[in-house]
Amino acid sequence: MKRLVILGGGESGVGAAILGKDKGFDVFLSDSGELSAAYAEVLRSEGIAYEEGGHSESLILNADEVVKSPGIAPTVPLVQKLIAQGTPIISEIELAGRYTKSKMVCITGSNGKTTTTKLITHILQEGGIDASPAGNIGRSLAYQVAREPHDVYVVELSSFQLENMYDFKANVAVLLNITPDHLDRYDYEMQNYIDAKFRIIRNMTGDDVFVYWQDDPVINAQLERVTTEARCCPFGESREEASAAYVNAENEMIINAANEPLAMPRADLALNGLHNLYNSMAAGLSAQLLNVKNADICRALGSFAGVAHRLEDLGEIGGVRWINDSKATNVNSCWYALESMPEGKNTVLILGGKDKGNDYSEILPLVRRKVKAIVAMGLHNEKIEEFFKDEVPVLESTHSLSDAVSACSRLSEPGDTVLLSPCCASFDLFTSYVNRGELFKQAVKNLQS
Ligand code: ADP
Repeated sequence: MKRLVILGGGESGVGAAILGKDKGFDVFLSDSGELSAAYAEVLRSEGIAYEEGGHSESLILNADEVVKSPGIAPTVPLVQKLIAQGTPIISEIELAGRYTKSKMVCITGSNGKTTTTKLITHILQEGGIDASPAGNIGRSLAYQVAREPHDVYVVELSSFQLENMYDFKANVAVLLNITPDHLDRYDYEMQNYIDAKFRIIRNMTGDDVFVYWQDDPVINAQLERVTTEARCCPFGESREEASAAYVNAENEMIINAANEPLAMPRADLALNGLHNLYNSMAAGLSAQLLNVKNADICRALGSFAGVAHRLEDLGEIGGVRWINDSKATNVNSCWYALESMPEGKNTVLILGGKDKGNDYSEILPLVRRKVKAIVAMGLHNEKIEEFFKDEVPVLESTHSLSDAVSACSRLSEPGDTVLLSPCCASFDLFTSYVNRGELFKQAVKNLQS
């Protein structure tokens, strides 16, 4: 019996443990922290051996293979020992891929993964396909393969997950964009991060399709270096020779990967903003490639409800629109949020949190054009104050969400938009971007009462 050791007892680790057990491995799960009560109970009821609060090397180094949670950095000493002794380390997605013949639509990129994964799933389901999301969303792929199989999996993949994938093959791979992110995990070498992202096209053959944003300079530079047998479907706003999706002169989004091209007025798309045009193109192409009818794709692209904390419209209060984009944890995603704001200096922008080494120059032209006031919200606002003090008519510094929301309320007038798109991680005042977004929504709701 082969020994499969799982490092990390979250959704993916527990799913991998269950799949490993079902496939006849001697499974052991180890987590350096505490397992949630629910996952511990699952492992107990499944009869899967586990430990928490530390790693016992004697129970781990004897593994034939290790499934490592993407959250555990490869530099951790235990992982280094496994590498040194030649133990194969794979990701939960790699394990799951071995035991299913279902189609895999895989999505990666620095920004837009969750939105696009959910959008693709929505379109496929509207088209009558038994599709289910996986990766960072909902149940792990391994669990679904073991216990809740589907015909198509729509898998969101981070660069961390891709790092430990070797034989896995996507049928449709979507690469949305590559901008600097997580460089602390990549020795501050952008190329290492790019290489991790490009693992999404590994093993693809002529029957598979690579969907990517044609205007990304990083993707294009890498495509000069690597080759793929997959059919390429680039997309972008303007039509180029190879474009499989673009916007025509009538402002219609054209999706042209199958026999019958689809034309849909941009105004009919449920999601606003240039970034969401790209996400809609990527999703429409993926769906067409899986033979969903154009009418179903259009209906689904028009009815998608959006994803919480991503340009989430909280409605109008006294003529002021409030938008929760708490998931904008880097400068690039804030750029897209500002891009989608109306022209004119009508936006009150909440920025701040845990700075990941931000360079705000990228958003400066949009801030000058569209922002009437910046409300900084964080423990340390100095960098934001210093950078923007001469760039906007008003800059206020706050250190709590309630103060930030009161300032925005005071600084906005009918016709304005208050946008929380902080450019920063949330861990100074909040536990997560979800916590930040939820509290913001609650504070905005309180304004109404
Ligand atoms: P991810 O899962 O990659 O973090 P999300 O779908 O959660 O991406 O979106 C995160 C943020 O990135 C959103 O708040 C949005 O402003 C921005 N964003 C979404 N799609 C794109 C895109 N295609 N290009 C750039 N930014 C995007």
